[in-house]
Amino acid sequence: MPLHQGPHASQDDHDRRRLAVNPFHGATNPLGGMTEAPPTHRLPDTPLPPQTAYRLVHDELMLDGNARLNLATFVTTWMEPQAGVLMSECRDKNMIDKDEYPRTAELERRCVAMLADLWHAPDPSAAVGCSTTGSSEACMLAGMALKRRWALRNADRYPSKDARPNLVMGVNVQVCWEKFCNFWEVEARQVPMEGDRFHLDPQAAAELCDENTIGVVGILGSTFDGSYEPIADLCAALDALQDRTGLDVPVHVDGASGGMVAPFLDEELVWDFRLPRVASINTSGHKYGLVYPGVGWALWRDADALPEELVFRVNYLGGDMPTFALNFSRPGAQVVAQYYTFLRLGREGYRAVQQASRDIARGLAERVAALGDFRLLTRGDQLPVFAFTTADDVTAYDVFDVSRRLREGGWLVPAYTFPPHRQDLSVLRVVCRNGFSADMADLLVQELERLLPELRRQPHPLTRDKGAATGFHH
Ligand SMILES: *Cc1c(COP(=O)(O)O)cnc(C)c1O
Repeated sequence: MPLHQGPHASQDDHDRRRLAVNPFHGATNPLGGMTEAPPTHRLPDTPLPPQTAYRLVHDELMLDGNARLNLATFVTTWMEPQAGVLMSECRDKNMIDKDEYPRTAELERRCVAMLADLWHAPDPSAAVGCSTTGSSEACMLAGMALKRRWALRNADRYPSKDARPNLVMGVNVQVCWEKFCNFWEVEARQVPMEGDRFHLDPQAAAELCDENTIGVVGILGSTFDGSYEPIADLCAALDALQDRTGLDVPVHVDGASGGMVAPFLDEELVWDFRLPRVASINTSGHKYGLVYPGVGWALWRDADALPEELVFRVNYLGGDMPTFALNFSRPGAQVVAQYYTFLRLGREGYRAVQQASRDIARGLAERVAALGDFRLLTRGDQLPVFAFTTADDVTAYDVFDVSRRLREGGWLVPAYTFPPHRQDLSVLRVVCRNGFSADMADLLVQELERLLPELRRQPHPLTRDKGAATGFHH
């Protein structure tokens, strides 16, 4: 979560900052008389009536953006009312409390089993898995399992100065992998981008591996441009490495988005547990899993892939259910909502929903290309996501100007710079999710058509603070 600092203004100023109370709020104060304006940065001395507190918080939140016009996020912004009802029925359930809420625990177990089947675990009853707060926690857990497996294999020399574990990945990884490497003291070995290759190259990844490599991360659905990394080719390159050198390097697939797209739309694509080298897979239930934020999943092929010593059994709450998690307490509602969505949609339903998103992404990408000012990096035909940049002959404005001007109409389309080797490249990215309709895509194109004549008349690109302009830092 953002690391917030204390007040910037002097303490005095600070003490004076108060929320403005509307006279109507005071009139409903059951204690009688006007409600006193509460301070913003320290606890008020006295309670407020609930309706006054509600209005103050509600009104302040009006300035948040409109989630449905946010094309930056992968996270679900629309669910059916029935899912909302179930979630509010479960909002007091603590996921860790498996003894008190055994049926919630059972629904989690069924979701794991469904994912093991969906991702072709060779023996679904041997696969192990758990829910998490999202893919970031799932990736931490998967990375920890890789690191511990490597440490157990190298118990004779780790820890020691010359045995520093490393993890191989493309430079396009989501920030959670940089966090993992930083927090767990693992060297991040990153395969750079090269020319028009914006994700990992299997051969280059294999070449970075050595006896201290705990694993290689392949991403099914790069956050930078929505492209799938070639997981099968990566496994083949690592098979060849093993033939040559004896090094047996496992693969983790970060399927944060693609883990819930490819099984429905790209059935012939082999990326999952069908590849013997794939040890573990994660996905975000709250991205293309179609659940409101707070749920992810991590699965391991079998018990060998997840060292038993990482699994905790606590009986403080009664029962003795094995758990693997960073958090202890966690809401159960999202897991219930995931089970609801699995049950509600089934394979056919998921296929239809994801196909609709991909059709919209492809259609929108084509129309953006047809405007003439832009060059597509991806076309929305893998993840329903595409990235584009300005054509070479466009000099009057840049992607940051486009992002800033789109904001005027409420559209959030992030612009950002690519990582080293392609830092020259800045792009706009559009994430099409369930709830972003073909009609809304039309409106976005109309908005671009309206803005382009003005942008073309600019003397030069105008956005000075590129990061602040889009409010987006990748
Ligand atoms: C979104 C994403 C993550 C992080 O997932 P959260 O669910 O937001 O924690 C990790 N990897 C990839 C590829 C992602 O797209």
